[in-house]
Amino acid sequence: MAEKFHFQPTSLTKLRKHYDVIVIGSGAAGMTAAIQAHELGLKPVILEKMDKLGGNTNRASSGMNAAETNVQLKHHVVDSFQEFYDETLKGGGGQNNTELLKYFSEHAALAIDWLADHDIQLDEITITGGMSKMRTHRPHSLAAIGGFLVTELLRQVQKAHIPLFAGLKVTELTTDEEGKVTGVRATTGKQSGPLTADAVILAAGGFGANQDMLTKYRPDLKGMKTTNQPGATGDGIKLAQSLGAKLVDMDQVQVHPTVQQDTPHAYLIGEAVRGEGAILVNKHGDRFVNELDTRKNVTAAIDELNENGAYLIFDQGIRDRAKAVEFYDSIGLVHTGQSLDDLASQLGFDAETLKQTVSDWNTAVADQNDSAFGRTTGMDRDISTAPFFAIHIAPAVHYTMGGIAINHKTEVLNEDGQAIKGLYAAGEIVGGLHGNNRIGGNSIAETVIFGRQAGEQVFNYINEK
Ligand SMILES: Cc1cc2nc3c(=O)[nH]c(=O)nc-3n(C[C@H](O)[C@H](O)[C@H](O)COP(=O)(O)OP(=O)(O)OC[C@H]3O[C@@H](n4cnc5c(N)ncnc54)[C@H](O)[C@@H]3O)c2cc1C
Repeated sequence: MAEKFHFQPTSLTKLRKHYDVIVIGSGAAGMTAAIQAHELGLKPVILEKMDKLGGNTNRASSGMNAAETNVQLKHHVVDSFQEFYDETLKGGGGQNNTELLKYFSEHAALAIDWLADHDIQLDEITITGGMSKMRTHRPHSLAAIGGFLVTELLRQVQKAHIPLFAGLKVTELTTDEEGKVTGVRATTGKQSGPLTADAVILAAGGFGANQDMLTKYRPDLKGMKTTNQPGATGDGIKLAQSLGAKLVDMDQVQVHPTVQQDTPHAYLIGEAVRGEGAILVNKHGDRFVNELDTRKNVTAAIDELNENGAYLIFDQGIRDRAKAVEFYDSIGLVHTGQSLDDLASQLGFDAETLKQTVSDWNTAVADQNDSAFGRTTGMDRDISTAPFFAIHIAPAVHYTMGGIAINHKTEVLNEDGQAIKGLYAAGEIVGGLHGNNRIGGNSIAETVIFGRQAGEQVFNYINEK
């Protein structure tokens, strides 16, 4: 059993007035950037406004995409940067920023290696919607990736003695007379003041929990529940905008198709559950979609049912491969039936219809041919091992594809496409990489790839000054 690890944020009494680099946000992008900068000899600090560390990264469930990795080869999956690039572009409706996408698809494998070099092993793989290959890397334990990654990155932050302050919110970016970024103003709520730095990295996440911003950019989503942590309020986007940064794709908000929301909270049911073999059925117990089509298309199919969502159906064999189900069950989100008849009666379905649906699906898996909906992935196991499970799901706001414009060096760009000196951004805060639909597993990859890049580029910037 892994040793218990408890991270203690740095005491505010230790806050200094100057750091080489200020990193805003303690998610995967921020921590990766800080660790990389530190390893290049810089003295970074991480500022986090919430008491809970790890942002939306904490909630990530399915995994991290990468192509041409050694892990894939160990699983006999032969992949290529080009396919990863092409499928991400297709999934994003061809609207992805191709400069960012090229860097992304060619550096994901290095990011997996970098994590492994830091004792963060993602040596299992699964698949997410819109991808043709098993390229979603996850921990050996098959646990949700988010909590694992945050814990392991915090371990590295602690090992490197990188100061990380919680409950310290950045409210302003400061500049010199030439517009070069010189630091931030931050507040504990009781006390506020300036901190100076040679460079600032914005890693403050998206705006999926900011109803005002969502309503501004996507009025049609007003009032919809969100899977995001409460601190995902787009602060960093507004900070960058105050310095003239360009924003892109702000109306591109991803609605995730499978979110359990019958309680006051919204719980994302990770795509790995479908990736490992679950199907979706309507209230009659019939399938209605290729469950591993892109999130955009699966959401549209659920909306078209007009039935207040749909149901994920799976069995013990699939549950064994998607450990996050243990958590969903522990908080009462999972219906369990000892047989399909039992499950159908709990859900109010016609048992014969559900049994026929599962039998047809099992035939499709055996033949590797889903003639009904053309599903080609997540067909490694059928639904035949009792007990059987169902989770009621419906779409909810999940991810903001829009954000700050950057180039592949993570430099924040102004409206003229010029870099704002000393300002870098990485992670969900950035817009453009995902086009009009993010593929599951690509965001965690983005945080590590561009987090590292930001750490590297501030090193160059500071040394060239
Ligand atoms: C439920 C769920 C499941 C997901 N599953 C997956 C998955 O399996 N695979 C995948 O690739 N992606 C997944 N995603 C998306 C992915 O987790 C996020 O996009 C990614 O983790 C964002 O990382 P980040 O470092 O950019 O931002 P975050 O992890 O959100 O971190 C940003 C941090 O900045 C802090 N902050 C904000 N404003 C300020 C401020 N003014 N001052 C100081 N701090 C501030 C925030 O509080 C937050 O802690 C999932 C998302 C959710 C919500």
